[in-house]
Amino acid sequence: MYKPSNKIISIYLVIGILWILVSDRSFAYFGFNGDSILFQTLKGIGFIVASGALFWVMLRRYENKNQKYLNRLKNITEELTLSNNRYTVVTKATNNIIWDWDFKKGRVIWGESLTRIFGYPELENHSTWWTNKIHPEDKERVAKRFDKFIETSNKEKWSDEYRIITESGDIRYIYDRGYILFNKKGKPLRMIGSLEDITERKINEEQLKQLNLQLNKRMEELAVSNAELEQFAYIASHDLQEPLRMITRFLSEIQRKYNDKLDDKGKEYIHYAVDGSHRMRNLILDLLEYSRVGKFDQTIETIDLNTLIEEVVNYHETFIKESKAIIKWSHLPTIQNRKTPIQLVFQNLISNALKYHSESEPPLIEITYQDLDNRWLFLVKDNGIGIDPMFSEKIFVIFQRLHAKHEYSGTGIGLAICKKIIEAQGGKIWVESEEGQGSTFYFTVSK
Ligand code: ADP
Repeated sequence: MYKPSNKIISIYLVIGILWILVSDRSFAYFGFNGDSILFQTLKGIGFIVASGALFWVMLRRYENKNQKYLNRLKNITEELTLSNNRYTVVTKATNNIIWDWDFKKGRVIWGESLTRIFGYPELENHSTWWTNKIHPEDKERVAKRFDKFIETSNKEKWSDEYRIITESGDIRYIYDRGYILFNKKGKPLRMIGSLEDITERKINEEQLKQLNLQLNKRMEELAVSNAELEQFAYIASHDLQEPLRMITRFLSEIQRKYNDKLDDKGKEYIHYAVDGSHRMRNLILDLLEYSRVGKFDQTIETIDLNTLIEEVVNYHETFIKESKAIIKWSHLPTIQNRKTPIQLVFQNLISNALKYHSESEPPLIEITYQDLDNRWLFLVKDNGIGIDPMFSEKIFVIFQRLHAKHEYSGTGIGLAICKKIIEAQGGKIWVESEEGQGSTFYFTVSK
């Protein structure tokens, strides 16, 4: 509330004293003097009028200032009520629990969500009340960190993660953060903050961590078993060659030396045995090749794919001429990779596209690409016999074929080698096809 200023009181005192000093003289000047009743009355009236006027001025000023003060007070009260309402609504609406800690009184006021989320009905309590709700295993750590934060007192924002025990005895994970207010001397006065229940997030994180651990373990196991399998395949195929060579050699010897002593059945059996041993040799060689994929100790080089495809096409020159095949490619990119594996991939896909061509028209093969930011996607498209979509995964498995040997030659290793090469580089290979509609093989390679 506005108080009359000392200035007004001083003016009033000065006028009063001056009135006493000068009123007699002034009245005498106008011919009024002596102690006549009229003179005294006029003097009194004069004083009353002068002091009344002064009081009236004072009162007006006082009233005006008071009115302004009251208006300001009203505005501030309205603003305060509004912001208080906003605060109350926020504490009710939010899923966070708002808290307000008065350091001087040592009291904390909690938002209503405290009851809704953790079940505690006490919305005003002493600061130690909350500390006692912290999980015993986290209590000391949280207290130490908080004390250190207060001691250093140069930061305004504090946050921590810990577990609390709810009214019903459950354990919840929370993220607690606060904003501290200091006085001019740097002493903490008040802290306002919010608690967030992050239990679901924590559980998900934990599950994800466990899953990742399991995955890493599985991957390690798989890598070990893959390496062992490759080693086994290599040794087996390598060592099997020698006894097989012996079998084939002695069978051929029997065929050569005792041919005239054998009857037709014997000749037929030996023919099957020789054929079987040849097929077994091919399989062993394929297995050896497959187990060697990934062991290319070539350095990475810049490969112009246009030149590489040309080399592959030249390799198939005779067949291309005979079958009137057309192979199209243009402006293929240059990549950084090891040449042999990349050449093997194109070689296998192109020779398949030539091999599995349709009887009705000459093979037409198109090699194109798409830019996928950090990778290239290559497409090898043919107009051949196509593949039933139900076999689109099976054909990439080692020794899996869709045709008998007398229909199309091969052992079923080409696509398995492509898959192994591409996946070892983090890429993908797949096919899109329909029977009788041609096939498109896709694979990605890093730039
Ligand atoms: P192989 O050609 O020796 O049988 P692959 O692993 O190269 O072995 O191919 C596996 C199978 O996939 C083949 O037997 C064939 O049935 C099918 N295949 C591969 N490429 C094509 C193609 N371009 N068109 C039709 N079928 C194909």
